[in-house]
Amino acid sequence: MADPDVSTQSGGYDVELFVDPPDYDLICTICQGVLRCPVRSACHHIFCKKCILQWLKRQETCPCCRKPVNSSLIFVMFKLSKSIGRMKIKCKNQIRGCTETFPLSEQYCHSMGCLYELIPCPYQGCRAQLLRRDLETHARHCEHWRQPCHMGCGTILTHGTQAQHNCYKQLRQEYETRQRNHRAIAMALQRKMRRMQSTMAHMRRQIGLICESLEVMDDLHEVEEEVDLGESSSSSSSGTSSSNSNC
Ligand SMILES: [Zn+2]
Ligand SMILES: [Zn+2]
Ligand SMILES: [Zn+2]
Ligand SMILES: [Zn+2]
Ligand SMILES: [Zn+2]
Repeated sequence: MADPDVSTQSGGYDVELFVDPPDYDLICTICQGVLRCPVRSACHHIFCKKCILQWLKRQETCPCCRKPVNSSLIFVMFKLSKSIGRMKIKCKNQIRGCTETFPLSEQYCHSMGCLYELIPCPYQGCRAQLLRRDLETHARHCEHWRQPCHMGCGTILTHGTQAQHNCYKQLRQEYETRQRNHRAIAMALQRKMRRMQSTMAHMRRQIGLICESLEVMDDLHEVEEEVDLGESSSSSSSGTSSSNSNC
């Protein structure tokens, strides 16, 4: 069924909302509104479903003819419900200026877009209630207005900061900060590299020195060996000569 907003307190739709005065047959005798979800009792009297169910809680007799009514023997009148849904109504916001008319069944759809519907300001923290058509004007001044920069820089803007917000500048500032960071990292890496290079040069020198000293030691060794050889040959010759002489 349609939006409960157009129903009267007790169930049916407000007669005043209908463009053409509804037929007497379509009025619920309990609530005096236009039948909402009409049901028929065994005695052929018709009421809003909600109205008769509430009535039967107090007394189980028909409010029209006083015959006994069994709540399990009431039937929903779908066809009648549909034809009531096709009846034209005025917008419930007509007192605020809406002049539109539409079938009762489209009431909910209309209220979702009605420019005269009273809605709360959508910005968090704002308590203002306003007509939908005034939302744009209100948003221009609402102190709770917040919106991310439409350039996509990620800055959340308020009316106070929006005027000074220079998206290009913002991006440039961020870019420059990032560049400064990158430069600092590059310099640190360079320093590290230089330190490693000097360590390596130092090590190379040390290795060179070690090699040199090894070579010197080799040379010395060779000289020693040569000296040894020379000594042994002379001693042997002297030995033989001495042995010879001994003989
Ligand atoms: Zn009713
Ligand atoms: Zn009856
Ligand atoms: Zn409207
Ligand atoms: Zn607001
Ligand atoms: Zn921006």
